[in-house]
Amino acid sequence: MSRTTLTTTAGAPVPDNQNSLTAGSRGPVLLQDYQLIEKLAHQNRERIPERVVHAKGWGAHGILKITGDISKYTKAKVLQPGAETPMLARFSTVAGELGAADHERDVRGFALKFYTSEGNWDLVGNNTPVFFVRDPYKFPDFIHTQKRHPRTNLRSPTAMWDFWSLSPESLHQVTILMSDRGLPVTPMHMNGYGSHTFSLWNDRGERYWVKFHFKTLQGHRHYTNAESEAVIGRTREGYQEALYGAIEKGEFPRWKMQVQIMPERDAEKTPYNPFDLTKVWPHADYPPIDIGILELNRNPDNYFAEIENAAFSPSNIVPGIGFSPDKMLQARIFSYADAHRYRLGTHYEQIPVNRPRCPVHHYHKDGAMNVMGGLQSGNPDAYYEPNSVNGPVESPAAKEPPLKISGDADRYAQKGGAGQQVDDFTQVRALFNLFDAGQKARLFANIAAAMGGVPAEIVERQCRLFDAVHPDYGAGVRAAVAAAAGAQQAAE
Ligand code: NDP
Repeated sequence: MSRTTLTTTAGAPVPDNQNSLTAGSRGPVLLQDYQLIEKLAHQNRERIPERVVHAKGWGAHGILKITGDISKYTKAKVLQPGAETPMLARFSTVAGELGAADHERDVRGFALKFYTSEGNWDLVGNNTPVFFVRDPYKFPDFIHTQKRHPRTNLRSPTAMWDFWSLSPESLHQVTILMSDRGLPVTPMHMNGYGSHTFSLWNDRGERYWVKFHFKTLQGHRHYTNAESEAVIGRTREGYQEALYGAIEKGEFPRWKMQVQIMPERDAEKTPYNPFDLTKVWPHADYPPIDIGILELNRNPDNYFAEIENAAFSPSNIVPGIGFSPDKMLQARIFSYADAHRYRLGTHYEQIPVNRPRCPVHHYHKDGAMNVMGGLQSGNPDAYYEPNSVNGPVESPAAKEPPLKISGDADRYAQKGGAGQQVDDFTQVRALFNLFDAGQKARLFANIAAAMGGVPAEIVERQCRLFDAVHPDYGAGVRAAVAAAAGAQQAAE
């Protein structure tokens, strides 16, 4: 069988890939050996900055098929009945570095890129419908508590619980994280949520608020802490093995796509702020509507090129889909694209996995990763706008209806829904009440385990927040903390 010729990166044939070029058989090596220098130089540059959050990830290609009809709410082609759109998914843990074990108790990223005919639509969510904070001003501080302590270079449970116990808005997400769903067995056995409130708008210029949900069709499966410790003892790559293996076997994971729709004016009436990322919309008020099926059916051929280089950003929306006033969403619209410009280069959307599958015409000029033959205006003379050389022009039909907002610019503390005080407890109580006795016992034990070594005053401050959710919650955690301390003493 004839084999292809090995070449340098410039395409010249490599005559010898076994022996470096030396003066005499024992060396030294000649500077002239550019093939050797190229090889070593490339090795030095094989890593790019890992993501500050969501560094460890697993992903695959797939398709979104729309089976329902929400055309009265949105003109987005990707959401029209019968639409089939190729897509990419990347799942991740939040806190661990690139080499972290897959089966850690952590929130999972659930990032989706839909290559629509009207541009890329990215839905960059998590496996939870809410988040720890509601104001982006707190996000860098929160992430510091999840990452390593600057002096010890270790994770710090004290920092985590200090921050959480001083931030009651985190209770909802902390409860989900410490519940069974905080440790899914594989990425296929968890739900995905767009988490933020977005908007849909139709041809008549009417806006509706929307939440996106992806419900696993594999069923929910979780590990206990003890089970995950045993798994990590065997493999640190359990998610990669499971996702890659299932797709190679033709067992394609699927999720049911649902939306919750809220009429625009309702946002003034709900007893909670519908743009608060620490809140859900109760299903009884806004029932989930089935609209499609997401299926992952193709593994990447090259992990680095297609998953490490994948750049998801909530700023990527398409006509018919819009943002909402959610402060966290607003900040992520900036910070995700900014992270990719830093990590991958200014023109990161020219990397094949990020490249839209529709025509792209813009006037952004030079810079890192501009590999698509310079300007993308379609005409080398059209490098500014307006121009008289037939360069691309704006499309008024893509104009979103105005976002109806009034108020004075200020640094507002969070308020609740219409006329209400902010309430960080009611929805957590609703969740707590969904848990059976076994789920509650595991919740208490997981929290106690995570509080190991945390000063008593911080534990007590946090337990008072649990008391405010439900007296059983605070009491259960206190008892589990005491039992863990007793077991620790007995072991010593
Ligand atoms: P519902 O009973 O109608 O919905 C409960 C939701 O909770 C379902 O979507 C279910 O997901 C999910 N759920 C069940 N067990 C857990 C768990 N251990 N961890 C996280 N989610 C779980 O009630 P409401 O809509 O009134 O919501 C009640 C509470 O449920 C909320 O306060 C919130 O904490 C939680 N929740 C609500 C969601 C929403 O969008 N309304 C979404 C997810 C959670 P599934 O359908 O996959 O079983």
